[in-house]
Amino acid sequence: MVHQYQLNGYNIVLDSCSGSIHVVDEVAYDIIALFPEKTSDEIVAAMLEKYAGRPDVTEQDLRDCIADVEALKQARKLYTPDTFADMAGTFKERSGDVVKALCLHVAHTCNLNCAYCFASQGKYHGDRALMSFEVGKQALDFLMDHSGTRTNLEVDFFGGEPLMNWDVVKRLVEYARSVEKERGKNFRFTLTTNGMLIDDDVIDFANREMSNVVLSLDGRKEINDRTRVDYAGNGSYDRIVPKFQKLVKARGGKNYYMRGTFTHANPDFTKDVFHMADLGFTELSMEPVVCDPDDPAALTPEDLEIVKDQYETLAEDMLRREKEGKPITFYHYMLDLTGGPCIYKRISGCGSGTEYMAVTPWGDLYPCHQFVGEENYKLGDIWNGVTNTKLRDEFRACNAYARPECADCWAKLYCSGGCAANAYHATGSIRGVYEPGCELFRKRIECAIMMKVAEQDTREDD
Ligand code: SF4
Ligand code: SF4
Repeated sequence: MVHQYQLNGYNIVLDSCSGSIHVVDEVAYDIIALFPEKTSDEIVAAMLEKYAGRPDVTEQDLRDCIADVEALKQARKLYTPDTFADMAGTFKERSGDVVKALCLHVAHTCNLNCAYCFASQGKYHGDRALMSFEVGKQALDFLMDHSGTRTNLEVDFFGGEPLMNWDVVKRLVEYARSVEKERGKNFRFTLTTNGMLIDDDVIDFANREMSNVVLSLDGRKEINDRTRVDYAGNGSYDRIVPKFQKLVKARGGKNYYMRGTFTHANPDFTKDVFHMADLGFTELSMEPVVCDPDDPAALTPEDLEIVKDQYETLAEDMLRREKEGKPITFYHYMLDLTGGPCIYKRISGCGSGTEYMAVTPWGDLYPCHQFVGEENYKLGDIWNGVTNTKLRDEFRACNAYARPECADCWAKLYCSGGCAANAYHATGSIRGVYEPGCELFRKRIECAIMMKVAEQDTREDD
């Protein structure tokens, strides 16, 4: 499948099945658009008409260009047929029942009361609860027991707010470190926190033991403090920003990212991204809120148009910052076009419900944190493993080829069929398609590819 678009002065042609990206002039761009439907003579006639006032566009040029396009097709770099569809369903079966990652909900409670919280202020529509050390230890044992020959295991300490159960987090890390060598495993920990309880002990421990930390901040003070408030209604910005700055500095400015959410209140979210950059943070992520369309925070169709423009603004500004030697990273623009995810990953996606699961404070297993609290989505528990195998099979069958709506989508090998939780929350089915989310996703991929093109262009100019 071929996708063509023009952005930041570039004519970009993406051949999605081969992953090839071509940057072409306007004449070649038009020829590529006509090529599948028209004969060479028809293309030449149409182009001579379109470029009638252009002496530099001759019939011979056009025929040479058509020959080049044909050569790219023969080399499987353009109009490459989709040969992945037949194997898509079997990929996850081949990975067996190996579990690679757990999201440990160590605290179903929170010291903030964010208006848009999908987790109902950390309680996930249930009771407040903290994970005991024994449950956490069993979860780590479950992961080691079910990880087959895999060495690297990922564990995310999550909530609610995980720092509200910090001693258990530390004990679990110590336990994992004490057994990982003899079990032939290597744990990589992540801590996701709202920052309220960060102190020197948290900074020391997290910077020693956590491969990554995810810090929640929504950008500008007035935006952050609209929603990210404590139970007395006070904004969190002034309390968390200095702590985040101290933690990131002590970490050497690496292996973290600031994660924000934007809503109807700030579709102009690049101001928030740039604000976080001004605060000294360089590893940034801001995601559109996913909520009921009737929720006041929901993005409206008008907002979506603004957001799409904002993605372009962000990409162009990031290129400028890069040129000035002050680059920032935006999580959604991280795209490796050369050594990127293998085809298994590109088709099968994040692995929720199969390779990756969330564990509640009392040890139940769910496909990911966004399903916790939805009884129908309980997979089993950490003592008996996955008992709802029918549900696991449903998640296993989720891939870039599972949804009829995705059949003609050029982005399917980048989105891997999308996020099952977003689809579920927007449509009521993990097989649904959340079209506004798709629109933004495709825009992000277009911007990310354009940035790679521009970076390559700059290197060639140097
Ligand atoms: S900090 Fe996170 S868990 Fe707590 S209320 Fe806010 S969004 Fe929810
Ligand atoms: S962007 Fe949307 S339509 Fe396209 S493959 Fe992903 S989920 Fe399907």
